Formats: sequence, structure tokens, C-alpha cells
Amino acid sequence: MSQYVIPYGKQDISQQDIDAVVEVLKSDFLTQGPKVPAFEAALMAHTGAKHALAVNSATSALHIACLALGLGPGDWLWTTPITFVASANCGLYCGAQVDFVDIDERTYNLCPEKLEQKLRDAKNAGTLPKILVAVHLCGQPCDMKAIHRLSKEYGFRVIEDASHAIGGKYHGVPIGRCEYSDITVFSFHPVKIVTTAEGGAALTNCEQLAAKMELLRSHGITRNEALMKGESHGGWYYQQIDLGYNYRMTELQAALGVSQMQRLEEFVEARHVHAVRYNDLLKELPITLPYQLENTYSGLHLYVIRLKLDAISLTHKEVFDALRGNGIGVNLHYIPVHTQPYYQELGFNNGDFPESERYYSDAISLPMFHGMTTEQQDEVVRVLHEVLKRK
Ligand SMILES: *Cc1c(COP(=O)(O)O)cnc(C)c1O
Repeated sequence: MSQYVIPYGKQDISQQDIDAVVEVLKSDFLTQGPKVPAFEAALMAHTGAKHALAVNSATSALHIACLALGLGPGDWLWTTPITFVASANCGLYCGAQVDFVDIDERTYNLCPEKLEQKLRDAKNAGTLPKILVAVHLCGQPCDMKAIHRLSKEYGFRVIEDASHAIGGKYHGVPIGRCEYSDITVFSFHPVKIVTTAEGGAALTNCEQLAAKMELLRSHGITRNEALMKGESHGGWYYQQIDLGYNYRMTELQAALGVSQMQRLEEFVEARHVHAVRYNDLLKELPITLPYQLENTYSGLHLYVIRLKLDAISLTHKEVFDALRGNGIGVNLHYIPVHTQPYYQELGFNNGDFPESERYYSDAISLPMFHGMTTEQQDEVVRVLHEVLKRK
């Protein structure tokens, strides 16, 4: 069976991207050369953040972000259940405990009111979080001003997991500037908005956090004499002053990233054109279309619809399977993290976060990518209309 499927997401690689990678292959440096700093400069130029550290994945970026903020055993990290598991796992990597804040029914991002309620309870119980990971689901920014205000009131740090959101804006400011957070993380996996094959980055305005993350991404080793204990022994000398990892990005990846960043605006604009068309062509169907928080511009990594199951004679799974069966590569982002077996082992139960579980019971991600043609989009719309009419 080689039936053509319209995927839910797909990278867009230009001849310029290919040439950029080939040029690195012919150069002296495959790693630890000039392309990683150039990519970091492009990320800083786009976002306005003072520091950017490119790494081999967003998962690695989340890990070193948590470590740099001092997360460890005895601490709590909170995030949303509706995210990729990496947003929560980074807390467990550090030996901390993880808990979740249920989502808002309109934005599907973690709900600031539920956050405030949970913080009040946690204050009384002495279990306030050290870190909140705010995930900009589908590219829609979280209510960062509310989160920032609560972070000051209750004394926790904020990481933005902006894996879906590069190119988006919050109150006119690019996601990644960290105006309301300590650190922002991007992912450059091929399904995301900009790709480096595998790759991620951590951005911050804090020099100390940047220096710490720089150490952690490369074994905790430094060649900077100012950071060393005692004197350098000579030109070969380095010191390990922390326990770090090898989370470095290669020059091939960074060159691809530099080239892709030149088309970031074009990528996000194309997604908005697709979304406007979907909004129009799907408006008569028994589904809830994406809601956009005011004063925000989404990166639009995903276009998620919610089925109004009361008005449809098929189940969620039947609709999903019918779409897949007709060549529409729909997906579901995400399975609530607290319902994963690994998290159930930690003590979470079905029913803990009802709004997230409701979302999971009727959400579907439609195909959304830069190179999607009008014909492909029309086919998605046609099949969806046909399936939802079925009795
Ligand atoms: C993709 C993704 C990640 C992980 O990104 P990698 O670069 O694959 O490690 C983390 N969080 C969210 C929300 C994601 O979508």
C-alpha cells in the first residue's frame, strides 16, 4: 500500500538550505565552528533576547534550562498535561517532582485561574513549584502577563516551551524575548516551524543563566581562564567545573538553521493563510475552530479542531480513522501527559485534569505546513465535510 497521505506537518527545504549544508561538509568544521554562533546570532536578532544557546534538541534545552535554574530533588516543576512529554520529563531528569495545571477551555494552554488556585493550595501545603513550564500550544502564546505576575507573587521561575511558537508574537513582541520568563526554549524538529533536522535552543536575557547553560551543554568544561580554579597549565588546558552533557548542535544543523531562519516570516505567514482558509471553509461544520487570544500572533505550528460529538453520529476515533483512511494525515496533539503509564506509576490518575481529558476526547490536528497546496487543503476540507455528514 503506497496510498498518498497529506501529512499533518512537513519541513520545507530550499536549494539554499541544501547549499548551506553542503558548504559546511566541505569546510574545516563539522562541529564547534562558526555556524553555531551564527545561528545563535540569528535567533537573537529575531527575538531580541540577549543570549541564545543552540543545542541538539528542545528536550536538551529544557533539561539544561531546569538545571541552570537550580531545579533538583525536593523541588516541584509544574506544566500543562496537553504537551509533548518532554515539557514534563525535564523535571524528572533533575530529580524533581512534576505536577500539572489543567488547561483553559478556549486556548488549550494552561489556565492562569487554575494556576492561581493551585498556587494558593500549594502555598498552604508547602509544595510551591520552583519552575513553571508554560507551553505555547499550537503556537498560541500563553497568558504570559498573568503567569509573570503569579511568578512574582509566589516566587517561581518561568520557562517558556516555545517549541510550537517561533515567529509568533505576544503583545507585539516576538516569542523568545523572555520579557515575562527566565528562559525560552525552541525546537527545530522537522515538523516544527523552522528545522535543523534535530535541534533546539535556549534563550535568556540573564548572563549567569546563559553562562551556566553554555557549560552544561558541553560537559561542564571551560577554556575560559576567568572561570578556572587556579592557573591555566598552558594552551591545551581546560577544566571541568560542573557536571555537564554533550548537547551540542553540529555545524551542519546550524547552517541549515541559519538558512531556514531567513524564511521564518514567510513560513509563519503561509501558515496564517492556510488557517484563514480553513476557518472559512470549515465554519459550517459541527466543530470548534481554533480560538486566538487577543493581542497575540500565533506561530501556528498546529491547526487543531474540536469535534462537537453531540452533533456528529460518529465517535472521535471513527472520524479520525475515516480521515486517515482517506489519505488525510491527521494527528492528535497531545495525549495528556498524566495519563501516560509512566506518569500513572508516579501516582496520577485519569480524571485528575478533566479539561485536558475532555480536549483529548475530541481534538484532531489537521494538516498544516508551509508547502501545503490549495489542492491539498481543499482535499482535507472535502474529506472532512464528507466524513462529518456520515450517519
Ligand atoms: C517537539 C516538542 C518538544 C521536544 O522537542 P525536540 O526538539 O524533539 O526535543 C518539547 N516540547 C514541545 C511542546 C514540543 O512540541
